[in-house]
Amino acid sequence: MGSLRRGMEREIEQARQLFEKEFGGQPVAAAKAPGRAELLGNHTDYNQGLVMALAVDKFIVMAGRPRSDGRVVLVSPIFERRALFEADRIAKDPEAPWADYTKGLLLQLQERGARFGGFEAVIHSTIPLGAGLSSSAALLVASALLLRKLYPYRIPELDRVESLDKGDAPPMDDAERLRLARICQKAENEFVGVNCGLLDHISSLFGRQDQVILIDCLDMKIDWTPMDSETAVVLAHSGVRHELVGGEYNDRRARCERAAKALGVPSLRHVTLEELEQARDRLEEFDYRCALHVVGEIERVARGADLLRRGDRQAFGELLCQSHESSRHNFRNSCPELDCLVELAKEHPACLGARLTGGGFGGATINLARAEEAEDFRRSLASGYAARMGKRLESWICRVVEGAA
Ligand code: ADP
Ligand code: MG
Repeated sequence: MGSLRRGMEREIEQARQLFEKEFGGQPVAAAKAPGRAELLGNHTDYNQGLVMALAVDKFIVMAGRPRSDGRVVLVSPIFERRALFEADRIAKDPEAPWADYTKGLLLQLQERGARFGGFEAVIHSTIPLGAGLSSSAALLVASALLLRKLYPYRIPELDRVESLDKGDAPPMDDAERLRLARICQKAENEFVGVNCGLLDHISSLFGRQDQVILIDCLDMKIDWTPMDSETAVVLAHSGVRHELVGGEYNDRRARCERAAKALGVPSLRHVTLEELEQARDRLEEFDYRCALHVVGEIERVARGADLLRRGDRQAFGELLCQSHESSRHNFRNSCPELDCLVELAKEHPACLGARLTGGGFGGATINLARAEEAEDFRRSLASGYAARMGKRLESWICRVVEGAA
């Protein structure tokens, strides 16, 4: 493995410089994982539903180098303390909880048979935390791919990870990538303790430039459809930090599971809107509303995929607005700031559609706007947000990018 060359992509170069500053010398490998934006299909992933996502041009890059003493040293400049632990003796450290992602991943891979020595790495990120762009999944995916470059492994089966003694790991096919996504999810579920679905990890790994990723979470079939080049994707971060760990997310998930159970089906994927109506009096009111949101979202994604293929961006955009209404009324995972952002978006003539994206309870909205007016759209969101909520808006016109490598 040669040292990373100078003059490479910007984020990798920034990570390289950070590594040089923190550890001296050069990293030998880097991995870059994009954040994701859920375009449509809210809270559908763990209900075996349909979802549309985009990998966007916000990234976590990890750059690293092996160590011969078996220790792992991680630096993330947004956190004061370094994380320090033995690769073969992993435990939580309340002083650096952010290292739980990499630790959880190491454990998952080790439990399946992989062996790792020590390493030192930096985490360079342009993904804001808790903005609904899934920095956590990008961190896991970047960790997994960096490790694969430092200590090559392959994943022939979900429960088996083989360390390779020599050379670089061969390129992953889609089936192996999917197994890696599942392992990342398990790390987040079991070690970090967030009951998240697979969407985030899949999106970071399966992104394609200018394409929408379509995921069927029943059989994990992944497909792509082009994103119309005249339409801009604008992400607007409310500045309200959502707190997934142990929060409302797990509550909503439990409600969906309870509703499915009461309906006698394995998941809400197996229920139509009519069947749900008929069973309404068997469900607690809020459970019913959560189920209504999810079943409605699954239907909107199915319709939305057709509309995208036909190039009907107007009708597609309307589905985004309906999705947000349902979040607000039924699933109750919006908040005044997100509602305000969606209202402001809809007031602008360039707007095609707007909704909250990701888990909700804060984080960001995703907006589709006519590309030629996207910058004006973005500015008017910011000035409206300042006027109505007295808050500064962070927003971006995003490019839709390739998945992690
Ligand atoms: P998100 O929607 O961004 O995924 P989460 O709460 O799921 O929000 O994940 C955020 C957590 O992921 C942070 O609290 C931190 O533990 C970890 N994390 C994200 N980005 C970084 C980073 N650049 N450096 C270290 N840890 C990070
Ligand atoms: Mg997350």
